[in-house]
Amino acid sequence: VKCIGILTSGGDAPGMNAAIRAVTRAAIYNGLSVKGIYRGYKGLVTGEIKEFKSQNVSNIIQVGGTILKTARCKEFMTPEGRQTAYDNMKKEGIDALVVIGGDGSLSGARIFAQEFDIPCIGLPGTIDNDLYGTDTTIGYDTALNTILDAVDKIRDTATSHERLFFVEVMGRDAGFLALNGAIASGAEAAIIPEFSTEVDQLEEFIKNGFRKSKNSSIVLVAESELTGGAMHYAERVKNEYPGYDVRVTILGHLQRGGSPTAHDRILASRLGAAAIDAIMEGQRNVMIGIDHDEVVYVPFTKAIKNDKPIKKDLVNVLRELSI
Ligand code: ADP
Repeated sequence: VKCIGILTSGGDAPGMNAAIRAVTRAAIYNGLSVKGIYRGYKGLVTGEIKEFKSQNVSNIIQVGGTILKTARCKEFMTPEGRQTAYDNMKKEGIDALVVIGGDGSLSGARIFAQEFDIPCIGLPGTIDNDLYGTDTTIGYDTALNTILDAVDKIRDTATSHERLFFVEVMGRDAGFLALNGAIASGAEAAIIPEFSTEVDQLEEFIKNGFRKSKNSSIVLVAESELTGGAMHYAERVKNEYPGYDVRVTILGHLQRGGSPTAHDRILASRLGAAAIDAIMEGQRNVMIGIDHDEVVYVPFTKAIKNDKPIKKDLVNVLRELSI
C-alpha cells in the first residue's frame, strides 16, 4: 500500500476532523501518501479527490463537522456506482480506503471491499454509539455533553413551572444517548428503543418514578420509530394522565455540532493512527474500536450487526436514583 484514500460519510459527528487529521498525519509519518475524498462515497463516484499534506489538516482538531464534507450517496448503493468508484480510485492511485462514518457507511465499505480487492478500514464516527465492538464512537461523548447542557437549562424552567418535560434526543434505534444523558443530567427516566417491546415505559415511569410531590420531571426520549418520539408520549400523558402540565423539547441537530470533547479528540486520534497501523499490518475489512482501553479490530460484519447491548446496571442506576 502506497496511497490511502480517506472519506467521511453519513451523518456528521464531532471529532471526525480529529480523525481525518490523525489518519493523514499517521499515514505521512509512515511514508504513505494521502488523498482526501469529498462528500463521502459521492466524491469517489464523481472523482472529487485531492492530495492531502500535513498542513491540509492543520488547525482542525478542535472543529466540529467534517472538512471533507459528508453526504448520502445513492449511486454507491448500486454495483455500477461502486464500479465507477473503484475506477476512480485506481485512476488516483489510491490502494486502501479509510471510511469514517456510522452503520450505513461501514455497510457500504463492507460491500465495496467484498466486490473489489481494496483494503477498507472503518472508523466508528457517529453520535449514536450504535456500533458493536467499541466502547464508544467518535462524537458520542460530545453529543452527550451537549444534551447535558440543554437538559440543565430545561430543568430551570421545568422546576420553576412544575412541569413534566419530554426531551427528545437522537440515537436512531439506540438508547445510549437517552439513557446516559438521563443519568448524567439527573433526569427522572429515559424511554429507549431497546425496551420498546418489553414494557410500557411510560406506565412504568408514572408508576415508579413520577410522583406529584416532585416539583418537576424530565424524561429523555430516544428519537426512533420504536419509541414513537417525545410528541407521542406527551400526547399519551395528556390523554391518559390529565392534570400534568406537559411540554416537549426536541433537541435535534444541535446535538451533532460543536467542538469535540477531550474524550472524542483522543479517541479519534487514537483510532485514526491505529487505522494506519492496521493497513500496514495487512488488515482489511475491519472497524477499529476501543475495548477496555485497548485498540481492537472488529470485522465489519460484527460491527454493523446493530445489537450493541445496553447495560442493564445503567437502567437500574437511573431507576434507583430518580426516586
Ligand atoms: P451512517 O453512516 O451515518 O449510518 P447512512 O446510513 O446514510 O449513514 O449511509 C451513508 C452512505 O453509505 C449511504 O448514503 C450510501 O452511500 C452508503 N451505504 C449505506 N448502506 C449501504 C449499502 N448497503 N451498500 C452500499 N452503500 C451503502
